[in-house]
Amino acid sequence: MNKFKKEIICINCGKKFYRYKNHEDTEKAKWCSMECRKKWHIGKTWIENGRKFIWIENGKKQRYHRYIYEKHYKIKLKKNQHIHHIDNNPLNNNILNLKLMTPAEHCRLHSRKNPFYIQCRICGKTFPFKRTRGHIQETCSHKCGASLMWEKRTT
Ligand SMILES: [Zn+2]
Ligand SMILES: [Zn+2]
Ligand SMILES: [Zn+2]
Repeated sequence: MNKFKKEIICINCGKKFYRYKNHEDTEKAKWCSMECRKKWHIGKTWIENGRKFIWIENGKKQRYHRYIYEKHYKIKLKKNQHIHHIDNNPLNNNILNLKLMTPAEHCRLHSRKNPFYIQCRICGKTFPFKRTRGHIQETCSHKCGASLMWEKRTT
């Protein structure tokens, strides 16, 4: 065996494949193909800009609360069917916290007086959600923000 190659077992299909050791970055070295990478991700969730997402089929992502609502009521939501988080925490995706609304009703609800609350990704504290020039705050404070930066750099 070539000593510069490393044998890896695909975490999706179990097939063995080889990667050059110096190319061995953790992201790329887990799946034998893009197909396996996509398949493996189905059903996996993650948080982005204070919102939870889920990978559904064909490498497509969906907002997690819409996914939960569709699954629970066995329906397909249309674009003009908004799902509101009753407690204003977009990360509380319990079915009892989700309410179907029209865009107009939903817009009225989310006025300045009634902000979203989201959970800090670092310490878990809830805080009012702010959107500054398209950038969404993911942490409650500068201190937690610095920890998140550090985490992103090291993982
Ligand atoms: Zn595979
Ligand atoms: Zn809402
Ligand atoms: Zn925090």
